[in-house]
Amino acid sequence: MDSKTPNPNRLQLSAESRLQLIAWARAAAPDEACGLLLGRRRGERVEVEHVRLARNVAADAHRAFEVHPEDHLAFSLEVERQGLDVVGAWHSHPRGPATLSAADLAAAAPGWAQVVVALAASDTPELRAWLVEHRCGSHELELTERPTPSSRYGS
Ligand SMILES: [Zn+2]
Repeated sequence: MDSKTPNPNRLQLSAESRLQLIAWARAAAPDEACGLLLGRRRGERVEVEHVRLARNVAADAHRAFEVHPEDHLAFSLEVERQGLDVVGAWHSHPRGPATLSAADLAAAAPGWAQVVVALAASDTPELRAWLVEHRCGSHELELTERPTPSSRYGS
């Protein structure tokens, strides 16, 4: 053990954000949809405050994604204004599983969370979250529902 920041093991995403990612993924199919996750790291938790859709400029958007540099810049400026960070990226797999492909791993920024939305089972899209580590693959993050300030139990 050392005194470094603990490695995250959980990612919190609100129910609203989850539905938004699924809607964007469906709208982009058969292309992959992609974007960034804005929020903060708190100890072992990655808290996603906002999800953002970006233009996918990959040459083969059917099976790859690449966030448009202008969108990346715009979201970077947005988090600066809000006192947040870009904590990761998300993208969809219109056909494949919700795991990171070899190409996803190669392209991912180390330390970033990666949420994958898999649409293969169209009734129940699957979301899984991963943390890409520097040069040593990735590990899965437990995906938990983030309570929103406006959500209350009951009516
Ligand atoms: Zn992928």
